[in-house]
Amino acid sequence: MFDSLSQRLQDVFKNLRGHGTLTEENIREAMREVRLALLEADVNFRVVKDFIASVTEKAVGREVLKSLAPGQQVIKIVHQELVELLGGSSVELELGGRKPVVIMMVGLQGSGKTTTSGKLARRLQGEGKKPYLVPADVYRPAAIDQLTVLAGELEVPVHPSRTDQDPVDICRQAVARAGELGCDILLVDTAGRLHVDQELMEELSRIKTALQPAEILLVADAMTGQDAVAVADKFHQDLSLTGVVLTKLDGDARGGAALSIKKATGRPIKFVGLGEGLDALEVFHPDRMASRILGKGDVLSLIEKAEAAIDKEKAEDLNRKLRQDGFTLEDFLDQIKQVRKMGSLEQIMGMIPGMGRLKQLQNMPKPDERELTKVEAVINSMTKKERRNHAIINASRRARIAKGSGTQVQDVNKVIKSYTEMLKMMKKMRGKPGGLGGLMGGG
Ligand code: GDP
Repeated sequence: MFDSLSQRLQDVFKNLRGHGTLTEENIREAMREVRLALLEADVNFRVVKDFIASVTEKAVGREVLKSLAPGQQVIKIVHQELVELLGGSSVELELGGRKPVVIMMVGLQGSGKTTTSGKLARRLQGEGKKPYLVPADVYRPAAIDQLTVLAGELEVPVHPSRTDQDPVDICRQAVARAGELGCDILLVDTAGRLHVDQELMEELSRIKTALQPAEILLVADAMTGQDAVAVADKFHQDLSLTGVVLTKLDGDARGGAALSIKKATGRPIKFVGLGEGLDALEVFHPDRMASRILGKGDVLSLIEKAEAAIDKEKAEDLNRKLRQDGFTLEDFLDQIKQVRKMGSLEQIMGMIPGMGRLKQLQNMPKPDERELTKVEAVINSMTKKERRNHAIINASRRARIAKGSGTQVQDVNKVIKSYTEMLKMMKKMRGKPGGLGGLMGGG
C-alpha cells in the first residue's frame, strides 16, 4: 500500500534526522521533496499546496529549530498533518434512528460496490446486527445474481429483486420485507455506470427520497487516483454523501485518492477494501494510516488482527506445549494456520514497524505464500504418528510424504529442519525471563 510514497518520504526524513541542527533552508529543501513525493503519488495539487504550507509554517518555528531533535520534530508535524489530511479520526457508521436503518451503496461500475455490500453485511452480522441485502441494479442481471450469490455465502437474506421492476419499488418492498424478516439494516446495492451520468443521479436521488437512508456511502476505486476524487465530488454534490469506502488499497494504488478525498469533498473515508475476499474490509483509521505511510508500522491493527484470528485457547495450549517440550509438527501446522488467518504475509509485514521499508530492499525476498502452502501440504501428508514424533520420519517415509504432498524430498527435509530449528530455539529461550511468554503472548 502506497509503497513508493512511503519510501520517498522515509528517505527525506532519514536525511533530516541525520542533522543535529536544522536550518530553515534544510526544512524548505525537505518540503520541496515531500511536495514532489505527494504530487507523484497523485495527490490533488491544491491539497499538496495547503499541506506543504501548513507543515512548513509549523516546522520553521523557533521551537522546532532549537529543539534537541529537530528532525524528529519535523516528522512529528508531518505525521500530525497527514492524520488531519486523512480525516483526523475514524468515523463510525450512523446506525441509530428508525429501523430498518438504510445504508445506500453508490458508485461507478467496477468500483467494488457489490463486493463491498457483501463485506459490510458480513461485518454487521459479526456485530450482531441483522442485515438485509437489496440488489437494486436492474440494468445488469448479473449484478443481482452476484449479490444473491454473496448473500448465499454469508447466509444473509437477500431481496428477490427482478430486472423488470423499478428500483424505487424494489426498495420500498424491501423495507416491508426486512420488517417481516426481523432485519434491522437494509444494505442497498444501487446501479453503477462507467461514468457519472444524469439519468443515474436522478434514479439515485429518487431512491434517496423514498428511503431516507442514514448512510449514503460512495464506493470508490483507489487505483483510479484523482478520478476517484472527482467522482466523489460529483456524487457528493448530487446526493450528499455521508462517507466513502475506498477499495483496492491492497493493489498498487499510489495514495492520491486516500490523501485527497477528505480534503476535497469534506466526506470521511469510513472503510477501506484490502482484497477481494469478504473479510477484506477494515475501518479506516487516519492515525494508523499515517503511521504506515511514514514507515512506523501499524501495531494496533496487527494486534487487532491477531486477536480476531488467534484462538486464545489454542494459543495458551501451544504456549504450554512449548514450555514442556511437547511441541509437535501438528502444533507447528496449527501455528502456521493461525498466522495465515491474519491475512497475506505481505499485509502482515506492512504493519510491522520498519518492515515496510525492509520489504523494499532489493535482495529482500518477497514473503512467499506458496512456501507456506507447501509446508502445510507436507505436514498434511504425514501420518498422525509422524506428526507427533518427527524422529521416526526416515528416508522412505520422506519419499512417501513428498509424493503425497506433490513436493520434493528436499521440501520435506526443509520442513522438518525448520521445525527442529524452532525446537532448538525454543529450548534456548526457555528459562530466559520473558522469553517464551512474551513470544506467544500468554502466561
Ligand atoms: P461493482 O461493479 O461496483 O459492483 O464492483 P464489484 O463488486 O463487482 O467489483 C469489481 C471487481 O473489483 C471484482 O473483481 C472485485 O473482486 C474487485 N474488488 C472489489 N473490492 C476490492 C478490493 O478491496 N481489493 C481488490 N483487490 N479487489 C476488489
